[in-house]
Amino acid sequence: MADIHLDQIGHSYGTAAYALEKTDLRFANGKTYALLGPSGCGKTTMLNIISGLLTPSDGRVLLGGVDVTRTKTAERNIAQVFQFPVVYQSKTVFENLAFPLHCRGWDKPRIARRVGEIAELLGLSSRLDQSARRLTADEKQLISLGRGLVRNDVAALLMDEPLTVIDPHKKFDLRRRIKLANDQTRHTVIYVTHDQNEAMTFADEILVMNAGRVVQRGTPQELFEKPRDLYVGNFIGSPGMNFVRAERGDRDLRLGGVPILGGRRCEEIPQHGDVTLGIRPEHLEFAHPGEPGIPASIVSVEDHGRLRVVDVAVGSNRLRMKVGRDVAMPSGDVGLRAAEDRIRLYVGGVLVS
Ligand code: ATP
Repeated sequence: MADIHLDQIGHSYGTAAYALEKTDLRFANGKTYALLGPSGCGKTTMLNIISGLLTPSDGRVLLGGVDVTRTKTAERNIAQVFQFPVVYQSKTVFENLAFPLHCRGWDKPRIARRVGEIAELLGLSSRLDQSARRLTADEKQLISLGRGLVRNDVAALLMDEPLTVIDPHKKFDLRRRIKLANDQTRHTVIYVTHDQNEAMTFADEILVMNAGRVVQRGTPQELFEKPRDLYVGNFIGSPGMNFVRAERGDRDLRLGGVPILGGRRCEEIPQHGDVTLGIRPEHLEFAHPGEPGIPASIVSVEDHGRLRVVDVAVGSNRLRMKVGRDVAMPSGDVGLRAAEDRIRLYVGGVLVS
């Protein structure tokens, strides 16, 4: 296992635009990271630079402090899991899992012990003698994953959208198994996905990417609570954060003419210029009867079972709120409230408080 350092790395595929803007990133030994972003933002480019499938136009790749920029993939001691399972169809599950260890000259009892441990972690113990050919796509992907995990000497385990081929209803279980296996093996893992649920449940730290840049890195909680800009606020959360222009009062910020934030945080923001309020749909509530609230009207209600997503209009602004099933749904005109510590302030589209 090793730290990974992308030292001033950048990459262009020969066009003027950089698929990966010049960046300096460090991944700590034994932690799990997700590269999260929409299609084309540069996730696979970054992963391929780490694995050695791609030589970067700029900068150096260091694994455990050693410069491997020009070292071939096979010599980097990295395990990879791709979108589609890579298994030896003619071999059994045991032989598939044992293969990387045979290649490293492990003796048979040691291989049997290690394969047994990994099979147990992934729930494959009862399948060890079966031919890989007869397995389902998700079982095959578990084997690909097992082959990555079985070696405890790899510098890193890289996964590129490994759940793409998996049935939606099996993804949850597979994600749980991957996480469990990882918690025990403590490889340095970099996991590429465009699915925020996968990133949120899986990673210690998420790197949110957009147009070839890492726009924010942080724990799932940090990204949810303090998105650095409007892009991250929109991208993280379902639905994303509400952003609405604040009205400036004498000593407060208002929404729909009603004070929503006062005190020190208001004094600290620039005196002039637009201020945008960021409020998560989870943090908007209906005001209690008799309590002053932001005047709003309900536009539509989507029933999601345990939750409702309510679309409300505040003047010409539209906001969404998540309302629990246990909350009585008012109709027509309503008042809204949000706790001050849940409101984020953005100036020029960037988080200031
Ligand atoms: P996806 O989720 O669709 O795989 P991604 O975030 O992994 O997307 P990359 O595959 O890294 O993004 O692509 C980043 C940019 O580089 C895109 O604009 C893509 O079109 C471009 N690109 C990727 N591979 C090549 C290539 N071999 N030659 C030219 N351009 C490429």
